[in-house]
Amino acid sequence: MYRNNVEVSIPADDIAARVRELGQRITEDYRDRRLVLLSVLKGSFVFTADLARSIDLPLRVEFLGVQSYGDSTTSTGVVQITQDLTKPIEGEDVLIVEDIVDTGLTSSYLMNHLQHRGAASVKLCALLHKPAKTAVPIDISYLGFTIGDLFVVGYGLDAAQRYRNLPDLCILKE
Ligand code: 5GP
Repeated sequence: MYRNNVEVSIPADDIAARVRELGQRITEDYRDRRLVLLSVLKGSFVFTADLARSIDLPLRVEFLGVQSYGDSTTSTGVVQITQDLTKPIEGEDVLIVEDIVDTGLTSSYLMNHLQHRGAASVKLCALLHKPAKTAVPIDISYLGFTIGDLFVVGYGLDAAQRYRNLPDLCILKE
């Protein structure tokens, strides 16, 4: 059974409580602005669904498919866009929704990229941050949890495309 290979790290109830808090803060900060939640696929699809429902504003949701060049375990910072936005984001207040910031290279690239595409503002919301591997300083305006240098799965995050459907954030056991 695939659940035998994982150990719960952050239970679903704790995630839900934290996501509600983030949603309330975003609701206050983005009142009277043109909020676009930009979900970075695939890992942030679950987080985005919960976060969007915790924000009490008339927002728009967009999805961006990205892939890092290089091997699968280390981020190179060169990001290929595999699925683009459906509408321009010129003049909009873009909030990037990321599952996890590890080296920070992916998020840093995306923030620059979206600024160049004419967004009025670009900020970052990440469920998780692993400060141990930081390669570029990155400003995470809304952060769920800081975690150690461990590989996590569940709540949208995968290992070889599996475990995304686990409701808790889990650590893979050897
Ligand atoms: P960065 O460019 O910040 O190093 O890479 C961030 C991306 O690496 C995340 O969006 C995610 O796809 C992947 N990643 C980093 N750490 C983990 C982890 O612990 N678990 C999973 N499933 N993906 C991770």
